[in-house]
Amino acid sequence: MISVEDARALLFKLVSPLPSETVSLADSAGRCLAADVVATRDQPPFAASSMDGYAVKAAEVELHAMFKVVGEAAAGRRFQGTVGPGQAVRIFTGAPVPDGADFVVIQEDTDRRGDLLTIADEPGEKTNIRPAGVDFKSGTKMCAPKQLQPEDVALMAAMNIAEVPVARKPVVALISTGDELVMPGEIPGPDQIIASNTFGLKALLEKTGAHVRVLPIARDTQSSLETAFGLAEGADLVVTIGGASVGDYDLVSDVSSNLGMERAFYKIRMRPGKPLMAGRLGQSAMVGLPGNPVSAMVCGYLFLVPMIRRMLGIGEVLQPFRTAKLAADISQNGPREHYMRAVLDHEGIRACDDQDSSLLSVLAQANALLLRQPHDPARSAGDEVQYLPI
Ligand code: AMP
Ligand code: MG
Repeated sequence: MISVEDARALLFKLVSPLPSETVSLADSAGRCLAADVVATRDQPPFAASSMDGYAVKAAEVELHAMFKVVGEAAAGRRFQGTVGPGQAVRIFTGAPVPDGADFVVIQEDTDRRGDLLTIADEPGEKTNIRPAGVDFKSGTKMCAPKQLQPEDVALMAAMNIAEVPVARKPVVALISTGDELVMPGEIPGPDQIIASNTFGLKALLEKTGAHVRVLPIARDTQSSLETAFGLAEGADLVVTIGGASVGDYDLVSDVSSNLGMERAFYKIRMRPGKPLMAGRLGQSAMVGLPGNPVSAMVCGYLFLVPMIRRMLGIGEVLQPFRTAKLAADISQNGPREHYMRAVLDHEGIRACDDQDSSLLSVLAQANALLLRQPHDPARSAGDEVQYLPI
């Protein structure tokens, strides 16, 4: 058995950053920027009014000053002339500030009769003008690597970047194994259950940025598993769920070895998720997850997510642990690292009562994995502990 840290180091060696491809801006959200992109224009490209009002000369602005309105500047349609002494131009938000003007008196501070404009309220110091290039200038970079958030997409759009270089999505093939499993929506036999963590993992890995193929459930026979591995060919990462322990029907280890899997490790000193195996299978990395739903999901967070992130080129380390104060006592830990399902709220962090690795209902209530080191002594409410948000 190896430690979680050693396992992670070995897992990283099984995958490497993927090549990039180009997608349209509209499809770039959530993808990982693979190369820096550069603005080719200033934003705004001209000094722009930030308010609706009147563009005038700042030197003439004072309470009760009077101006003649000589034209209009709207967003998308500038005033063609120059603002002279005693003149004002009606202006709207986003419109270019006309030549000759360097102040916008907001509409609320004015009184207008025909072409005659009076500053009726104290206009203040603020010019209400956004200088050209105040948001970004031509040459401003968005630096790779980075997972593109909605606001990054907006910024690239403003930069007029229509095509975006992103890392290719890692393709993950998910193979559930077990005679007891049926797909959600099917009618299970009396001794059957529904394949569940398969779909939890699909959601988790897709959220991380992978493309996930859910393969047909492999039955607990050599041939069915072989068929499933055959269907997984071409994937960057093949993940099996279940069949990884030492029971008579746990065939993943044997079948993958027969197919030439070069094993990196088998079994980790952790709870939940001890029977985890990994290695290389042809062109793919392979990870065999334990079948217990909580074990599978926790291993997904701890091991699969960082592998996907490495393939996407966005960092190799696990999300950093955070600290919180215990809201309730916890007893001594055993010899393995323990990732306890826990709830974090304004009172602190509290381990869930039942830590059995089959309980999806408990995992679904949890929003954190509370980390216990091997042989960690009992801890009391108020003590600081480490956790990973989920
Ligand atoms: P195994 O590792 O195959 O012995 O499975 C351990 C436990 O996890 C058993 O109770 C299985 O029924 C259950 N299990 C395995 N795969 C899945 C799955 N995809 N969805 C839900 N439960 C599963
Ligand atoms: Mg099984």
